[in-house]
Amino acid sequence: MSTKKVALVTGSTSGIGLGIAKKFASEGINIILNGFGDAAAIETIRADLAKTHGVEVRYNGADMSKPDEIAAMIQSIESEFGAVDIIVNNAGIQHVQPVEDFPIEKWNAILAINLSGSFHTIHHALPKMKAKSWGRIINIASAHALVASPFKSAYVAAKHGIAGLTKTVALETATFGITMNAICPGYVWTPLVEKQIPDTAKARGITEEQVINDVLLHSQPTKKFVTIEQVAALAYFLASEDAASITGAIIPIDGGWTAQ
Ligand code: NAD
Repeated sequence: MSTKKVALVTGSTSGIGLGIAKKFASEGINIILNGFGDAAAIETIRADLAKTHGVEVRYNGADMSKPDEIAAMIQSIESEFGAVDIIVNNAGIQHVQPVEDFPIEKWNAILAINLSGSFHTIHHALPKMKAKSWGRIINIASAHALVASPFKSAYVAAKHGIAGLTKTVALETATFGITMNAICPGYVWTPLVEKQIPDTAKARGITEEQVINDVLLHSQPTKKFVTIEQVAALAYFLASEDAASITGAIIPIDGGWTAQ
């Protein structure tokens, strides 16, 4: 069995999750990739990470909206590696529409993936973490865990929920060598942000360029997108020994957005 730590990064076939998986692998951590996408493309990512960094990299395609698949994923990681040392709850989706028109299936999917999926990974992985007296749980929340924006009712509700889950589990695990924190990025240029631009333009009656400058970057005093690498570096710090006293924290990385 490998002596390296093992990290499950949900939703790591794209965007922020993939950036975190790359950073952790580069620091010698074994990785479980998760998320959707083209099977051959995912296999290329998996093989490249393993070869470049000399770590074990597995892929598990569990659908984070399905509790049974999450339970089976945690069990399979534990049977191969003993325990999940680090969980990064990152998988997430977005939908932008006024609340009265918001499709119920979108509400249910966002709550399931962006909030309940994190409960299920923690619920199943915690006993083995506690037995090892070491663990790191890092939730990729959002500035929307702290403030709202119109037309994102499900996303904002789920992300505020993640903040509450983070504080609660941090208290329950504080004496077990386990920390749980939430990272709250502002806008990061990823497929999730790119895809919401046309719907935001429609909901607000403005152009897509106006969405980028007057809505997205308007929120961030730095007038810059946060980068995937900056979020990954913060996640790695929270996974390190130096961060052992940081728990239950809701940490913005948002170019000053939530300081306003
Ligand atoms: P992305 O669309 O690039 O990546 C999302 C990942 O989640 C993909 O790997 C996708 O396959 C996976 N995923 C989606 N549904 C899934 C499911 N049912 N089961 C398993 N995996 C699933 O998006 P991103 O911007 O990298 O977002 C990652 C996280 O960061 C999300 O939780 C998002 O809310 C959060 N976030 C993003 C931003 C931003 O500006 N991009 C800002 C704040 C927070």
